[in-house]
Amino acid sequence: MKILVPVKRVVDYNVKPRVKADGSGVETQGVKMSMNPFDEIAVEEAVRLKEKGVASEIVVVSIGVTDAQAILRTAMAMGADRAVLVQTDAALEPLGVAKLLQAVVDRENPGLVVMGKQAIDDDMNATGQILAARLNWPQGTFANTVTVADGRIEVKREVDGGLETVRLALPAVVTTDLRLNEPRYATMPNIMKARKKPLETIAADTLGVDFAPRLETIRVVEPPVRKAGVKVGDVAELIEKLRDEAKVI
Ligand code: AMP
Repeated sequence: MKILVPVKRVVDYNVKPRVKADGSGVETQGVKMSMNPFDEIAVEEAVRLKEKGVASEIVVVSIGVTDAQAILRTAMAMGADRAVLVQTDAALEPLGVAKLLQAVVDRENPGLVVMGKQAIDDDMNATGQILAARLNWPQGTFANTVTVADGRIEVKREVDGGLETVRLALPAVVTTDLRLNEPRYATMPNIMKARKKPLETIAADTLGVDFAPRLETIRVVEPPVRKAGVKVGDVAELIEKLRDEAKVI
């Protein structure tokens, strides 16, 4: 079975995002960019399925700028076999990404798509669900545990109040939650080997898909700076402040 893993290039999770001076978005120039952490978990899960003999090939795909090649190489250093870059400099949103991924699914015919539950830049949590709906495939979102057997996949999903188990027919779309696994680090020898693995580039506008944005970002602002707190001496003072200053009791 072939597994397709979509991976997104985002501002590194250790970087404190800065809003652009004109308020049109978050600054990405000169900022460290990395693979979306949930997508690392997706790559790891695909590699584990290959190690168990469930998967025969792992193809990673990223949609975006040419520099996204770096995260594709990282995914291949973790164990993916080959990569596809759907190149575009255009602004992207989940509907457009899902349509482009659908075109890649049509070309690659994977038995399973494993992807992040959300990208940490826009926190959309939508692309996997839209892709599954467009493909008319079952979806197992927020995966905590994944087991493949007899042409079916069992997904334990993280839901409010516990875990829900669903069994899906393949092909299917699975989106990863944080506790699914702990992604491995790419070792230096594997980083070197990944340089020789195939990376195909397809121009997004050759796929016959309308991925023009439907959403308009009006303005992006920094969160308000929190006022410093005060220390109270005892419970009586706390109650007095809550009553007389904060007026919450
Ligand atoms: P989102 O719906 O934007 O929060 O993203 C959910 C998941 O969709 C991500 O974790 C990725 O697996 C995938 N995805 C989103 N945008 C892209 C992209 N530009 N290229 C590849 N995969 C993407």
